Amino acid sequence: MTIDIRELTKKQLQEAVLEMSEKSFRANQIWEWLWKKCARSFDDMTSLPIALRNQLAEKFQFQTTYVDEEIKSIDKTAKLRFLLHDGQKIEGVIIPSLSRTTACISTQAGCPLGCGFCATGKFGFQRNLSTGEIFDQVAILNDYSLSYFKKQLTNIVIMGMGEPFLNFDAVMNAIDRIKSPEGLAMSPKRITLSTAGLVPEILRFADINNGAQLAISLHSANQLQRERIMPIAKKYPLKDLIKALEYYHTKTGDRVTIEYLLMSDVNDTLDDARELAAFCKHFPVKVNLIHYNEVPDLPYKKPSAETVADFGKYLEEKNIVVNIRRSRGDDIAAACGQLANEQTEK
Ligand code: SF4
Repeated sequence: MTIDIRELTKKQLQEAVLEMSEKSFRANQIWEWLWKKCARSFDDMTSLPIALRNQLAEKFQFQTTYVDEEIKSIDKTAKLRFLLHDGQKIEGVIIPSLSRTTACISTQAGCPLGCGFCATGKFGFQRNLSTGEIFDQVAILNDYSLSYFKKQLTNIVIMGMGEPFLNFDAVMNAIDRIKSPEGLAMSPKRITLSTAGLVPEILRFADINNGAQLAISLHSANQLQRERIMPIAKKYPLKDLIKALEYYHTKTGDRVTIEYLLMSDVNDTLDDARELAAFCKHFPVKVNLIHYNEVPDLPYKKPSAETVADFGKYLEEKNIVVNIRRSRGDDIAAACGQLANEQTEK
């Protein structure tokens, strides 16, 4: 069974090219086709001799991602469903605004963490995505942005289907290709990765310090309440999460984004805000408050606009930077926590 060419490191590609008795500069050309020119097949690599393209096709697979379906929201947010080489389907979202165009991408087909409020978690886990599959979503959404909004992507949030830190190496490799001058050359400061709070991987991410930003899907700063809505909190309790985030801040100097989905009668009282404020005192943070987007068959409800405003005001009075996020794309199930494709639903 041959492997996908995009699983190779640059050094491995150079070795493979030499094994094929080709000049070493061919490796640079191939690398550029893979990650800068975003080739989708060996046939796209038109600066290579046909004999070399054929040799590559014999030696490696080229696992391509296709757009299977595209749904547009009335607010111009678009959800793209991607078909992977083995028939798995995942989703990505593009969110345009006046000042930025943000792509939200997936890292797993499904998710094993089973957060109670989440459409993706509800349908279980299929598999991790490869580096190429994570990269493809950015390249395709960037083309989409250029076609429809006449501008490049400005921001990438790794917050779609899946827990990125359960697919650590592929996600780090994809970030590397996205930020590299030999790849898409996007600033890592504009890439934000969101985790449910996997402590060992937060420490690894801090040590790698690749410039990408970290967000925590917190959703509750009360241990028992968090365990009820996010089972992973039993394995990594808040006290350990705080220590890991302190380490992250010390290593990177970056502040942590706290994602907090407000759910009616679950985590939206002023007592909840007080506990969140206490959690935020350990390191510099920015809090994104997002009202919950209801998911069919799940019991959680959206809070009132007044509740969201009061919660935000409480945090601001404690000198915490707060953004109350306008939810985008909820009419097409593209909003936070709503991504789950039909295949998964089956
Ligand atoms: Fe997985 Fe994130 Fe959904 Fe939790 S919220 S189940 S980590 S996709």
